[in-house]
Amino acid sequence: MTLAKAERLKHLPPYLFQEIDRLKADLLAKGVDVINLGVGDPDLPTPGHIIDRLQEAAEDPSTHQYPSYSGMNDFRISVAGWYQRRFGVELDPLREVLTLIGSKEGIAHFPLAFINPGDLALVPTPAYPVYQVAMLFAGGESYFMPLVRENNFLPDFSAIPPDTARRAKLMFLNYPNNPTGATAERDFYEKVVAFAREYDVVVCHDAAYSEMAFDGYRPMSFLEIPGAKEVAIEFHSLSKTYNMTGWRLGFAVGNAKLIEGLGQVKSNIDSGAFNAVQWAGIAALEGDQQCVTEMQQTYQERRDVLIAGLRRVGIQPVIPKATFYVWCPTPPGYTSADFTSLLLKECGIVTTPGSGFGAPGEGYVRLALTVNKARIAEAVARIEKLSF
Ligand SMILES: *Cc1c(COP(=O)(O)O)cnc(C)c1O
Repeated sequence: MTLAKAERLKHLPPYLFQEIDRLKADLLAKGVDVINLGVGDPDLPTPGHIIDRLQEAAEDPSTHQYPSYSGMNDFRISVAGWYQRRFGVELDPLREVLTLIGSKEGIAHFPLAFINPGDLALVPTPAYPVYQVAMLFAGGESYFMPLVRENNFLPDFSAIPPDTARRAKLMFLNYPNNPTGATAERDFYEKVVAFAREYDVVVCHDAAYSEMAFDGYRPMSFLEIPGAKEVAIEFHSLSKTYNMTGWRLGFAVGNAKLIEGLGQVKSNIDSGAFNAVQWAGIAALEGDQQCVTEMQQTYQERRDVLIAGLRRVGIQPVIPKATFYVWCPTPPGYTSADFTSLLLKECGIVTTPGSGFGAPGEGYVRLALTVNKARIAEAVARIEKLSF
């Protein structure tokens, strides 16, 4: 067979975790008690009332046929209700809400609706890799906006050359942010709307972590900003909020023309999310939100154990107000890759090197709070035995 892989696969960013995966497999084979702080996947189960609703809905034959492409009307109405309660934003459920098979799916497909070969998007770095890859698959180009600590991990729009800003069709943003744990406030979002209007750029805001926040902090929706709905689409997910990563359910909201374009792409590629999963999604969004409060408390406690421990060894991470990530600076003299392999070899702790999320992530490792408090304490005890 002479069939070669398409160019677009050859241009994918390198898979930097290969070495770590190999080392991890070695350690596991040797029987080492590995603590995995590498993957951003909640370790807690989906709340029972959501599972019950899935079971019941799966028994109903009406859910067994093809779902509607844009999502069940009941689910989209439920999303609009949640948005109104949570953010005070009005949405037209049929024109401004679209069901997704997880938000990653929607983000990855969005550029196919609006990007022609050679078109440009402004993409943060370090970042969730999907924005860059989605642009690549659509034949577009990415201009990277570095997220650095001096700027609270927010992009500096004054550093973008005006010609580049004028060329750009899209801007990707993600707050609360993976991997830095940074959050954005109203004044920043107002600047984004002004920038989007000045340069005619569409904003794609990934709000997957809007509910995973601590100390009583409630992240806002980008759509709360006046004028945002004229320029933006916002992506949400039930994955992190309700421990539903395996269920594949998310939604996009915002500008009707953007929603319609994404819907057109999807109707030609997938056939929608299982209706029973959407009924369960309604149970999640409309049910008791005590499970969300408990999730927040759980991660907050884990965060506090980890931060306190890192401080004892002289590492000063930014304390995240949201997300289940701690963006941890490496000790002096260690690159991201060095520190990741030290933690793995000496402590049996899996982390992700910051440089894997983009060059400005060099000098950091990302620790995910996805093991229980006792295991985090154990990880800290092992780190405390190191000397840098
Ligand atoms: C986890 C995550 C998502 C959610 O992905 P789903 O496809 O909805 O499971 C989206 N964006 C970021 C940055 C994430 O970390």
